[in-house]
Amino acid sequence: MNYTTQMDAARKGILTREMEATAKKEGMKPEELMVLVAEGKAVIPANKHHSCLDPNAIGSMLKTKINVNLGTSRDLNDMDLELKKVEDAVLMGAESIMDLSSFGDTRKFRKRLTSQCPAMIGTVPIYDAVVYYHKPLKEITSEEWIQIVEMHALDGVDFMTIHVGINRQTAHRFKEAKRLTNIVSRGGSIIFAWMEMTGNENPFYEHFDRILEICREHDVTLSLGDACRPGCIEDASDISQIEELVTLGELTRRAWEKDVQVIIEGPGHMPLDQIAANMKIQQTICKGAPFYVLGPLVTDIAPGYDHITAAIGGAIAAAAGASFLCYVTPAEHLRLPDADDVKEGIISARIAAHAADLAKGIKGAKEWDHQMSDARKRLDWEAMFNLAIDPEKARRYRASSKPEKEDTCSMCGNFCAMKNMNRILDGEIVNIYDE
Ligand code: SF4
Repeated sequence: MNYTTQMDAARKGILTREMEATAKKEGMKPEELMVLVAEGKAVIPANKHHSCLDPNAIGSMLKTKINVNLGTSRDLNDMDLELKKVEDAVLMGAESIMDLSSFGDTRKFRKRLTSQCPAMIGTVPIYDAVVYYHKPLKEITSEEWIQIVEMHALDGVDFMTIHVGINRQTAHRFKEAKRLTNIVSRGGSIIFAWMEMTGNENPFYEHFDRILEICREHDVTLSLGDACRPGCIEDASDISQIEELVTLGELTRRAWEKDVQVIIEGPGHMPLDQIAANMKIQQTICKGAPFYVLGPLVTDIAPGYDHITAAIGGAIAAAAGASFLCYVTPAEHLRLPDADDVKEGIISARIAAHAADLAKGIKGAKEWDHQMSDARKRLDWEAMFNLAIDPEKARRYRASSKPEKEDTCSMCGNFCAMKNMNRILDGEIVNIYDE
C-alpha cells in the first residue's frame, strides 16, 4: 500500500477501494469525492484492521449519516444483548456505531464489533482507560492515556472521540465564566477531573503529535470531542464552548498536516435560533471539517421525548451544514436505552437526516418522497408500507383500525380526498353521502 490514510491517498491522487464504494453510494464520481477527502471536507473512517467494514463517507455535501451509541454499563453488562442491539441498529439504517462500553471486558466486545459489524465503529478511549486500568482516576498516567488510544487503533476502531480541546487554558476560562450545568460531556468531565487532581496538562493535548502518529499509522479518523458542549439551553454558545471550538480549529489544521482525517463534535443543547449560526462558525473555524452534532436538543424540558427535541435540532443543524447526527433516544437523561428506545432514537435521527438532505438537495432524497406521494395518490398501501421509514409501524397502525372501504383509511373514510379527486378527475360521479 503506497499511502497511509484515506486523506493521504486522496492527496496523492490514489483512488482507494473505499472512495470507489462510498462515491457509488452517494451517486457521485469517485474523483469528486477524492477532492473532498483531500481537502478534509469529507472523511471516510476506515481503520485498516476493520476488515468487514462497509465504508461510508461523511461530509456536509453528502447524505447525512447517523450514529448510534451502544455498549455495556455497570448496570447492564450483557455483551450478547448489546451485540443484538448493534445488529438491529445496522438493519435500521445506522451507518455508525459508537461503543461506549464502560464495564466488563470492553476489549473483547470491541474486537467482536470490529470483526463482525459492517458499520463504522467509534469509541471514546477515555472511558475505557478508567475501566481497563482498574485504579483511581488520579493515578492514570499520561502515558497510559495514550496507550489506550493505541490499543483502540490496533483493535480496528474507525474513529475515536478524543477530548483534546479542553486544555488548561480552556479549563481556566470555563471555571472563571461559570455555567449552569458545568461540563456534561462524560469524557470531558473525566479529563477535567484528572487535570484538576494532577495539575497536569490534558495528556491528549500535550501529546497530540503522538496521537496523530497513531491515527496516521492505522488510519483512525479523529473525532475532536467537545468537552464544553452546552448541556442546557442557558449555556449554549457561551465562552467555554467557543474557546474550545477555536482550539479544535487549530488541532484540525495540525491533524491535516499529518494527513489525519478529522470530524468535529458539536452541541449539545441549543435554542433553535442559534443552531444555524453555530454550524457556520464551526465551518469557518474548522475550515469545513465535517461536523458531528449530539442533538442539538432545542429545549431542556422534555425528558422522555428527547428523541424529538434532538430531531428538531438535528434537522436544522444538518440543513445548515452538519454532516453526522448522533441519535438521541427517549431514554436520554433517564436510563440506558432498551431495544424500543434504540429504535425510536434511530428512526427520529433518520427523519432529521432525511429532512435535512431534502433541504440540501442531496441526490436521491427527493425521489424517495416523490415515490411515497405517488403511492399515496394511488392509494397503494403496500407500496406506502415498503417506502415508509418504519414499515413495521406503518403496517401495524393501519391494521389496528380497519376502514369500511378497503382503499381508504379510517381517518376520512368516504371523505377520502385522494380517492375522490382521482375519481372526479377520471370523470366519475362522486356522491360521498350514500356511497
Ligand atoms: S382517508 Fe384521508 S387520510 Fe386516509 S388516505 Fe384518504 S385522504 Fe388520506
